[in-house]
Amino acid sequence: MSDSLSPQLLALNFCKNPLCADFGSLNAANYSLSLSINNPQIACVSCHSISPIISPTELNEEVTAQLEHMNLGLTACTNEQCENVGLNVQLHPSRYYAFGFSGDKQRYRCKSCQKTIVDRFSVKNPNLKTHVTILALLLTGFSLKEIAAKLKIQAKTLNDHIKSMATICRQKSSVFDHHWHNKGQHFHLGSDWNLLQPKSHNGVLWICTADLDSHYIALQSLNLSEQENITGHRFIGSDFLASINTAPPPPKSSTLRDILESMSTGHQERSHRNNPLHNQTQLNYPAKSSLVSPIYCTAAHYLRLNHSLGNKEQVVISMSFEPMLADAAMLSFNAMRQKQSLDLLYQLDDEKWTEGKAGSKPQIFKFKGSEVPWSLSEQWHLRGKADQRAICQLVESNLTQKQAHQLPKLSPVTHYMDRFHAMFKSSVNEPRRKRRPEGLLPLLDIYRAWNNLCHQEKPGETPAVNAGISEKPLSLDQLLQ
Ligand SMILES: [Zn+2]
Ligand SMILES: [Zn+2]
Repeated sequence: MSDSLSPQLLALNFCKNPLCADFGSLNAANYSLSLSINNPQIACVSCHSISPIISPTELNEEVTAQLEHMNLGLTACTNEQCENVGLNVQLHPSRYYAFGFSGDKQRYRCKSCQKTIVDRFSVKNPNLKTHVTILALLLTGFSLKEIAAKLKIQAKTLNDHIKSMATICRQKSSVFDHHWHNKGQHFHLGSDWNLLQPKSHNGVLWICTADLDSHYIALQSLNLSEQENITGHRFIGSDFLASINTAPPPPKSSTLRDILESMSTGHQERSHRNNPLHNQTQLNYPAKSSLVSPIYCTAAHYLRLNHSLGNKEQVVISMSFEPMLADAAMLSFNAMRQKQSLDLLYQLDDEKWTEGKAGSKPQIFKFKGSEVPWSLSEQWHLRGKADQRAICQLVESNLTQKQAHQLPKLSPVTHYMDRFHAMFKSSVNEPRRKRRPEGLLPLLDIYRAWNNLCHQEKPGETPAVNAGISEKPLSLDQLLQ
């Protein structure tokens, strides 16, 4: 790592404290560095906040690794050095020549680097019927073992089918994602995170961002890398364990104030506030893959999103109260913040908060440990207690406090993750999968495509239909053909 504060280093490591006079400053004079090899840190001279340095090179490697997974098996150039890498033939036909056939599959050649690609999607899926049956069984909660037994096939064969279904789903998603990115100038996004396998203690985090207007899941990332020989700050080594185990106190009551106070105490007890994996005194480290440090995975998640959205007039990102999400979004969307087109906020709603219904005038409120002010509004009922919403505006460009309190709920993204845990319970909790979390990757690709394109929240309404990028829901046949 360079020992000077290069612009590239500052672009990721600027002060992210909204209360600081130098919040977001890219002026090297405002910072001091401590370059210990194990733990290089940067301090803001104004507010004295200290953070581990994020390396531009390593973050770039994480972005590339996430893109590689997403583009695996698509009909697109696979040459890392080529400008067409990952660009679908279907969406970018002008970048490729038709180049004969391989068997009966269409072949293409990249105009930029001359690499040839076979389009596996140019012929009908020969296993369509089996794939539809497998997906239907998965969606009704059957375990992989039960499905293999029902279809009288080996576990390995089932696994191959699921991988092939995942590739088809990634291909479908890539086309709809492209239309979603181009659907307009104003985006209202919501992010949340969860443990991928909550009972497995394997340190695998799952980060999701949804379009809160349509509930389209825009992007999901795991802090998991299939790279085996790991070095550098991007990774958490297999020897990583916290020395202390100070679980935050449970909230004193179910009011938002007490929940926030308890979460905030938990954040303060971490070695760094943007690392939710601090506090793991036990970790079932994945056997065949490596854990990526949470801030690298999350920053790459938002950098990809920022890159695909391009120059939009207005982006609002609501997120659950998690500094890992906030820090990562701030550094990834910093250019948009400087142009005043970004609003970033923490949002917590009572479960029964009603979207679209006016609440009371927001009141500033503080709880023990809160530095940045929050505001609270209430929806009153004739009987019973009021429903509350708490908001903390971290980056304010266009939204007034009142408008922030009228935003849609964050719950669709949370429910998306909860539903996966419920539907795929047997695979998620299977004991042998504790140390083999990468086996869930194909299921996640299938689940996201199904959720966006097939799953009807109301009759005829899928997230893609609601986003105006699909005319009607896709049947399982259409999804997998
Ligand atoms: Zn500062
Ligand atoms: Zn190429």
